[in-house]
Amino acid sequence: MRAVDLIIKKKNGGTLTREEIKFLIKGYVDGRIPDYQMSSLLMAICFQGMNEQEQSDLTLEMLLSGERIDLSSINGICVDKHSTGGVGDKTTLVVAPLAAACGLKMAKMSGRGLGHTGGTLDKLEAIPNFRIALSPRDFFRQVEEISLAVAGQTANIAPADKKLYALRDVTGTVEAVGLIASSIMSKKLASGATHILLDVKVGDGAFMKHLDSARELAKAMVAIGNRNGRVTAALLTDMDQPLGSAVGNALEVIEAIETLKGRGPKDLEELSLRIVSELLLMTGLENSEEEASARAKRALEDGSALNKFRQMIEYQGGDARVIEDYSLLPAAKITIEVRANSEGHVRNVRALAIGNAAMLLGAGRVTKEDEIDLAVGIKVHAKVGDRIKKGDLLATVHGNEKNLEEAVDMVRSAFEISDQKIVPNKLILDVIK
Ligand code: URA
Repeated sequence: MRAVDLIIKKKNGGTLTREEIKFLIKGYVDGRIPDYQMSSLLMAICFQGMNEQEQSDLTLEMLLSGERIDLSSINGICVDKHSTGGVGDKTTLVVAPLAAACGLKMAKMSGRGLGHTGGTLDKLEAIPNFRIALSPRDFFRQVEEISLAVAGQTANIAPADKKLYALRDVTGTVEAVGLIASSIMSKKLASGATHILLDVKVGDGAFMKHLDSARELAKAMVAIGNRNGRVTAALLTDMDQPLGSAVGNALEVIEAIETLKGRGPKDLEELSLRIVSELLLMTGLENSEEEASARAKRALEDGSALNKFRQMIEYQGGDARVIEDYSLLPAAKITIEVRANSEGHVRNVRALAIGNAAMLLGAGRVTKEDEIDLAVGIKVHAKVGDRIKKGDLLATVHGNEKNLEEAVDMVRSAFEISDQKIVPNKLILDVIK
């Protein structure tokens, strides 16, 4: 087999076989196929696409390039939830303990934030002494004992994806649905959960800006998961405006805890309850939407989800007193209020501008090596559809000198006020099973 023949085959709209995909991926990881040939193939895939079988084969070959987590000996049903990334998306901090409190096992490997979207690991590191690096043994034991662990990658997962993703990033080949779907799913399948719920974000602050492309991505990922023996479903959820109110690591931890106390923003609570309800239905722990939803709500109201969060912090070495005392979390030195210049209805709170403003303050990374400031961020007080008067508080910027003025300007530019009444988007736009 020669790489050049396979590139030409794909360029002409042909379908690659499993053997051919295996040859390409193995060859690329081993260094026999150079970057320039792989780039050419990726570009051909961007134009010609891949069918379901090719996507599934690519996913499996990337999965097989590394280690896999075997959770099969854990007593219980291991579930996973994955968000394609958004602004203010602290859902994992609520969903993981909530799912555990509902009788599921949540063995979650999370990532760091890059660009304007945040990452769960950074948020957890805002909790003093919280350890995100767990050995495979500790990770496993913790899931056995308290039904949840949220940690960084404990093994060398899908190295082929890592190498390919870095190449895609610099060759303009990130945005092909088949490539994104197989990249995400290779890591999800390697993580060992039997049931996977994907939260595909749609809108201004998301990877997928439009519902059609988000639906296509969700369908592709669900098909890959189900073809490979995992019960997989996806929610399509709005990311035109930030989720909840807080954007920035420590601020988001506080908001997640408030939500676990039953006092969080309605949208974050709604999404978290829905994700856990879907997981309860997918796993067969509940058989009707009403019962699944009631079980999730009960675990929030009776404090058992909050208790699971406390246990997780304690197991991972963190200071669980943060649950009662938010002053133990990093706090910014300066807060600046952004107020409305006119009255009307909020038409837009552009998530991308809010995410970029948080990044300017130091809450996120431009490159993987960047140091971040866990204290800084933005609290969004007005949401799409709200009626506001001149002088009302739209947002509070929490900063530590760095780029403060630019960030405030950017936050202000995120808000669009209309004199017409605005009906906000639905939060949950569709479900793909
Ligand atoms: N996230 C991933 O892990 N892979 C992609 O290709 C895109 C987003």
